[in-house]
Amino acid sequence: MSDEYQREVDRRDQKTIAGVFFFYLLDTLFLWLFALQAVVPMAAPVVSLTVGIVACATVSAAIHRGMHLQLGNRVLVGFMTTLACLMFLSLAAWLPQVGFLMLMSVGNVIAASALRFRIGEVLVGCAVASAATLAVLVFRGPSISIPRADLVQQVVSAAWIAMLLVRAGLISLVGMELKLQLSHTNRRLADALFAVEQLANQDELTGLMNRRSIRRHIGTTLAVGLPTDEPIGIALMDIDRFKQINDSFGHAVGDDVLKQFARVVETALRTSDQVARWGGEEFLLVTFGAKSLESSREAADRLRKVIESYDWSSISPRMAVTASMGVTVWREGETADEAINRADKLLYQAKEQGRNCVCAG
Ligand code: GH3
Ligand code: MG
Ligand code: MG
Repeated sequence: MSDEYQREVDRRDQKTIAGVFFFYLLDTLFLWLFALQAVVPMAAPVVSLTVGIVACATVSAAIHRGMHLQLGNRVLVGFMTTLACLMFLSLAAWLPQVGFLMLMSVGNVIAASALRFRIGEVLVGCAVASAATLAVLVFRGPSISIPRADLVQQVVSAAWIAMLLVRAGLISLVGMELKLQLSHTNRRLADALFAVEQLANQDELTGLMNRRSIRRHIGTTLAVGLPTDEPIGIALMDIDRFKQINDSFGHAVGDDVLKQFARVVETALRTSDQVARWGGEEFLLVTFGAKSLESSREAADRLRKVIESYDWSSISPRMAVTASMGVTVWREGETADEAINRADKLLYQAKEQGRNCVCAG
């Protein structure tokens, strides 16, 4: 993960902590309103505020110091969840007159933690929280209640419940946002992977398959087997005296010749055939559907003539380009490399025989 990305994630986490602290402030506010009416002691909002400050400050400091990278974010979320649940359960046991609201708040905390935990962990958390809730209910029995003695208490209680419901809605919105972000990140990753694959398989200059890609392709073709008995033609093709082209016209023009050469060959081939840049000014052809070695040789010779007769003057007025070829067919039981090596030797023969010709074998 890049530093910049990590900083972005940390910034988002710090924002989440600020959100959690805001929730603690809301709980504190409602407890304070009940404290003003002497429903709960003033110590109750103080406890809520203190726990909020301790939990949020601790986790914020831990992220600031990079401790979440060693501990893992889930340890910190676990710490916050446990602290919040303990606080609400203790308040419910201590102040049963607001116990109902405290136990509802535990549900909120568990729902928020579910955004970061695996389903199994959430279920364990639910089981522990439910057991603790049962213990509080058994311990306090019917005194677990909600303040409703007068209109003010009824309004504050209803407002607190409304706040808890809004909070639950917000939590699920955050969950959806996280899911969207994740699918967006996944899409970007898939695009990046596709671009990397393209780069890894494509020759940058000509846009043809590169050596790695065609080798893999031939390997797969041979492994899968041929749909017909017709042989696979393998031809190595090398531009004649390309060094002279570079020397006379310059390297950039040489590059243009390579690009144009690739287009000419691609256009002349059938769609089922494949051409790749094997390296430098050498190209590998893999052809399908030839009836025999002789018909592969004839096809290669037709291609040689197309190259020779192509009007190269669009690149430079005195430009002429020819190529020599070594042509063979893949023999049952041999590896792709063995067939390619044979084509290479035949190409060498074609060069020996004066270039701009095809040798087959
Ligand atoms: P031959 O007919 O025997 O094949 O002679 P040649 O000059 O074509 O062969 P040689 O191996 O002597 O020279 C190949 C040249 O191709 C040398 C190298 O600089 C040039 N070359 C290889 N890759 C590129 C490229 O990407 N761009 C350009 N412009 N030139 C390249
Ligand atoms: Mg050459
Ligand atoms: Mg060469």
